[in-house]
This record gives sequence, structure tokens and C-alpha cells, in this order.
Amino acid sequence: MADTGAADQLAPLSVSETPEAKFREFLEIRGEKLTEPRRVLVRQIFDTHKHFDADELVRDVHDSGHAISRATVYRTLRLLVEAGLLRELRLTNRTAYEHDYGYPAHDHMHCTVCNRVVEFRNDEIRRIRDAVSRAHGFRPAGHRFLITGVCSACSRAHSPRRRLDLI
Ligand SMILES: [Zn+2]
Ligand SMILES: [Zn+2]
Repeated sequence: MADTGAADQLAPLSVSETPEAKFREFLEIRGEKLTEPRRVLVRQIFDTHKHFDADELVRDVHDSGHAISRATVYRTLRLLVEAGLLRELRLTNRTAYEHDYGYPAHDHMHCTVCNRVVEFRNDEIRRIRDAVSRAHGFRPAGHRFLITGVCSACSRAHSPRRRLDLI
């Protein structure tokens, strides 16, 4: 069966500064340094766009031969969110992270059977957000919109009767 994984994600935007340079600036303002473990983490994280959780990152980092403590991974993730480089994503059963810097604003669908996360953009959702905000005199800076359910591959695989029900 064809895996449509690539279509689950949007194309990145082009940005003038590297995430590493952005993070260094952010840390300098706070009087902190881009230490070697932090540099390794930023490179690892921004190497590929995906929705990952802290434990996955700890595993990836160890698999690539770096000894970075779990505490450092967690603290760096928090800093990257504060710096606007990463976005925190509360899924049904876990907290995931993904690139915010250099990536277009978007929403998600989460399949609760296979855990697949599908990204999409929809102008209608943004229009509704803006209209609701206007009506309340609220200035929106962002929103969270998550559709949970069962993806097409899982519906096909797990419930052959479902189609008949719909006819
Ligand atoms: Zn699924
Ligand atoms: Zn996403």
C-alpha cells in the first residue's frame, strides 16, 4: 500500500537566518550561551520537519551518538518554544513539538488509531477566528485547531463494514 507520508506536511518557508543563529540571539538577550549540547539539539531538531515528542528527541539524540541529559533536552525544548522557534502541540495523548520558525501557520488532524498527524491550511478557519475575535474586541495572535478522528488508511483497514453502513 502506498504511503502518503510526504503529503502529510507542508513545504517550509525560506528564511534569512538559520534557526541556530536565531536561538543564539535569543539566548544572548537572556545572558545565556548557545552551549554545545544546545547546538547539537537545534541542529538535530531542524534537520527534518516532523511532529516529535521529548522522549523521541532523547532517543534520536542518543542514537546519533550524543550524550545529552534528559533534563537538558527538556529545558532546551522549553527555551526553543519561548524563542518562537518551536511550537508546542497538544495532541490527544501526548505533547508534540514542531518547527514554528520558517514554517507556514497551519492546523492539524490527528489519527487516534495510528497517531498520524496531518497538516493543512484553511483560510476559512482563519476568517472565522478573525471574525469571532473582532466581535469580542480581541486581537488574535494565533489559534489552536485540532481535528481528532480516524485517518483514511485506518478507516479502510479497520472497518470494512463502515462503507456499507454509509450507502
Ligand atoms: Zn490512522
Ligand atoms: Zn504541523
